[in-house]
Amino acid sequence: MFNSPITIKAVKFFEEQDNLYLYNVENSGIFQVDDTIVDICNSDGKTIEELYQLLKNKYSMEELSELLTTLEKAGVLRVQDSVDDINTDSCACIKETNGVSSLILMLVQECNLRCSYCYGVNGEYNDRGRMDMDTATQAIDFLFDQALEEELSICFFGGEPLLNYKLIQDIIPYVQSKEKQTGKRVRYSMTTNGTLLTKDVVDYLMEHQVAIQVSLDGDQKTHDFNRYFQNKEGSYDLILNRTEKLRKNGMISARATVSPVQLDITYTLKHLNEIGFRNVAMYPAVQMLNVKDYEDYSLEFTKLVNYFETLIHSKEYKKAREISNIYKYLRRVHSSSKRHYYCGAASHMLAVDVHGDLYPCQRFVSEKKYSLGNVNKGVSRLREKEILKEFSLEERTKCKECWAINLCGGDCPHENLKNTGAIEDPLEISCEFTRSAINDCIRLYLRLDEEDKDKLFNNKMIKEEEMIVS
Ligand code: SF4
Ligand code: SF4
Repeated sequence: MFNSPITIKAVKFFEEQDNLYLYNVENSGIFQVDDTIVDICNSDGKTIEELYQLLKNKYSMEELSELLTTLEKAGVLRVQDSVDDINTDSCACIKETNGVSSLILMLVQECNLRCSYCYGVNGEYNDRGRMDMDTATQAIDFLFDQALEEELSICFFGGEPLLNYKLIQDIIPYVQSKEKQTGKRVRYSMTTNGTLLTKDVVDYLMEHQVAIQVSLDGDQKTHDFNRYFQNKEGSYDLILNRTEKLRKNGMISARATVSPVQLDITYTLKHLNEIGFRNVAMYPAVQMLNVKDYEDYSLEFTKLVNYFETLIHSKEYKKAREISNIYKYLRRVHSSSKRHYYCGAASHMLAVDVHGDLYPCQRFVSEKKYSLGNVNKGVSRLREKEILKEFSLEERTKCKECWAINLCGGDCPHENLKNTGAIEDPLEISCEFTRSAINDCIRLYLRLDEEDKDKLFNNKMIKEEEMIVS
């Protein structure tokens, strides 16, 4: 036993407010430590006896053994003689299937806007068309037939989904009849550009509790720079007009795409909050940002973290939680669990294109290589397994060397595919930004007191709104 070598797992140390913390890379666990733990963590490969010789001024052998057991239980190290890690098989995390519980319906693959950065090629995904009710019916039957969960979700997506509004009005009654037959429940969401939200549409969507997310990039100048109609006229004014009732009722969230035209995301967030958007999620238009933009964007993210902290100091916890760019990382640190995928694509979530073909998510639509089957014939279990393996963090060589892997999750598989040509290969400038952002968030977490943590993470009302697809 005393001659057993110790294997140290990947850890990172943080110093915050004169305290030293150990961050466990594998599961995001974080706890306060002292210099002795640093010495132990620098002793990879040493035997317990050798370690004892190093630390015998501070610890008896019994105390050292106890400390090593505690660290082993926390997943920080492994003493070779002890029971091997459960499940070191790289594929063991790839689940068979739990059934799909979320479906993204591509109601239409065309759009009335011509946004500069659209990944869907004007919303057409190289394959213009509209879904019909037969296909939608088969998709809904597919969802209800194979889902093991009782709570399901359907997201109306496009192109611009409201170009096929009539189909939404046909789908909802059909879903209601399925709910009655099966006892399952469906929550709806929709990602829209907001230009077609007429009064009748808004009333209908509100009545059927469809959670609406509008793509709005910030103030008028910022938004209109990239999001315009075919004649280059900006869409900001029209969107504000069309969303007035929803904003007044606090029933609408926003998705802002961050481009070099406005990197001050605190300003963007405050603007969108001021005009009535509840939750605001901000994502970079990766292909538009150069190295300098990313450096500036990192500094802007730090400013956003500072703003989050001022909200905490003034006890505005709800407002803070709605800053999803930061809150998602804090929550992951707080829950400290091991992550296997970046997102739910191809596992509990699938997208259905206008023809009824199934894809891991909306972004993969028309990437035939990633089709998993069809709503008629169902999912090819073989393809599902292959795609899940490809999406798995276990397959990410670069990410497995990165201390931020468990909080980052390896970046969006489709974004990686688009930017580097390989799902497992993230873009380095994006990684540098992510690591800087995660570093800021971990430090912020370490500055939270117990009341802050309780208010941020333990409130029963808190449920992450993951239904909305961006
Ligand atoms: S920061 Fe980059 S390398 Fe690190 S886990 Fe994320 S995607 Fe992978
Ligand atoms: S993160 Fe990327 S792959 Fe995952 S659902 Fe979103 S767009 Fe699709």
